Amino acid sequence: MSFRNQNTYEVMVREGEGSAFHSRFERAVERFEQSLEVVTRYDSIVDGRPMSNGKYLRDTSPMDTGLVLGEFSSGGEQEAAAAIDAARRAFVTWSVMDLDKRLAIFRKAAEIMRRELFELAAAICYDDGKNRYEAVGEVDEAIDFISYYTEQMELNDGFREKRPPAYDDESPISVMRPYGVWAVVCPFNFPIAITTGMLTAAIITGNTAVLKPSTVAPLGVHMVYDVYERAGIPPGVINLLSGPGSTAGQALVSSERIDGIAFTGSKEVGYRLLASSLRQYPIPVITEMGGKNPAIVTDKADLAKAVAGVASSAFGFGGQKCSACSRAYVHELIYDEFMVNLLRQVSRMKVGDPREKDTYMGPVIHQKAVDDYLSYADLARRDGVVHLGGERLGGELSKGYYVQPTVVGSLPESHRLIKNELFLPFLCVQRFTDLKDAVRRANDVDYGLTSGIYSRDPEEVRYFFENMEAGVCYANRARGATTAAMVGAQPFGGWKGSGSTGTGSGTALYLTQYMKQQSRTTVH
Ligand code: NAD
Repeated sequence: MSFRNQNTYEVMVREGEGSAFHSRFERAVERFEQSLEVVTRYDSIVDGRPMSNGKYLRDTSPMDTGLVLGEFSSGGEQEAAAAIDAARRAFVTWSVMDLDKRLAIFRKAAEIMRRELFELAAAICYDDGKNRYEAVGEVDEAIDFISYYTEQMELNDGFREKRPPAYDDESPISVMRPYGVWAVVCPFNFPIAITTGMLTAAIITGNTAVLKPSTVAPLGVHMVYDVYERAGIPPGVINLLSGPGSTAGQALVSSERIDGIAFTGSKEVGYRLLASSLRQYPIPVITEMGGKNPAIVTDKADLAKAVAGVASSAFGFGGQKCSACSRAYVHELIYDEFMVNLLRQVSRMKVGDPREKDTYMGPVIHQKAVDDYLSYADLARRDGVVHLGGERLGGELSKGYYVQPTVVGSLPESHRLIKNELFLPFLCVQRFTDLKDAVRRANDVDYGLTSGIYSRDPEEVRYFFENMEAGVCYANRARGATTAAMVGAQPFGGWKGSGSTGTGSGTALYLTQYMKQQSRTTVH
């Protein structure tokens, strides 16, 4: 195995290139800003050609709603049908393309992304409001997905293997065959990384795809398409269907002519897609959904690590990660000390323009997120104690969707702020006295994506790992209590209402979900 995580910031700092990291990002931001002087129109792309019905949706930046990032085609049934047709035609040759030839295209795509890493990062800084470290980290993750999946396809010879013969005259083999056309439906919060992860897994295994961006942050998805086109993906292998979930998305996923759905997004939409899996034939539906991720801090914790990990997981990208830490269960004996340190750390986090070097938290994604935030803050004031935050930021920042990181305590355990995914910079801190009770409460939600514990006691860590109902668990991680999974190292997938397959992305197993097994036995 030669796979290595991209990890751009850490590598550049280690190699004394820290200032180049900043200057390259800043130059990319300047170039991106210049490109906004003309408003670009982005059409759907079918069979390698633009397609539009003449309707467009304006996409603006959450950091400053006066910045128009483009006008994106608002497709519907007609475009969805054309995209599926194109994908079906392309499947005929793509699905049988020689593996080495196919993989060469993916190596090229990873190379292009590496070369254009800062350009891609600048675009998602504008479209999603990510700070530079998070934006570069997201592109890193996309490169990691392509490199890791390419290596796994090669190492496993396309998942073709000889089987032990039951009779001397038989030669059985198992081959994995692509399903056909996949609908790949993307969330707003990782338009480059998650799009690349799902899309790459679908097409590297020989399927073709219709890619549906979120209308909230479509730009990164168009850029991923563009990278693959320049890497040499034949027309029709990826088709991009631009438009809202209720029209374009719905037309795509309800078509009888798709063979699989890969979806990352909310539980509400994901559950509907899962329920629709039974058609003329059952189709695979891979869903990765929300989280309500807990961190448990016991009285045997290293407090500095716990505070750092909880703060970064709760407020990195404004809590808008599926893996964001939204609940902390803290042992009664250290609760006060933990709180003092946490509040000190969080109040030092700079909220502001994500283009600036020292900004920790940029804006939230849209007006509805601000409205939700304010109503949750009211609820928290009514039913608990708001220790920090709870307000929208004004002045210069009123041009975007900026809110304060919020820390809430003393809510009743059954409260909806404790049970429901909020997807905002909102952390609820609760007390506990017994670890078993903390784990039980941590598990008592519909979700099971990520979780963390801070304890120096191996027995406590063992209890946590064995009893936590979550696909991704961490112990004593200062770089993130519940976030910061790396491709390859941490298979990433949710249990319970967070995911439907029980298999994490960034693994060979994940790839095999995009294929169906065929047993071939020849008698000689
Ligand atoms: P969302 O469910 O609102 O939208 C996701 C995608 O589904 C968008 O492209 C949207 O247009 C499309 N869509 C909406 N309705 C549709 C329909 N009826 N038919 C077809 N497509 C439809 O989610 P979001 O707000 O973009 O993303 C945030 C959610 O995603 C959060 O719940 C978060 O936890 C989750 N998420 C999960 C993971 C994970 O790996 N588990 C990763 C990132 C985000």
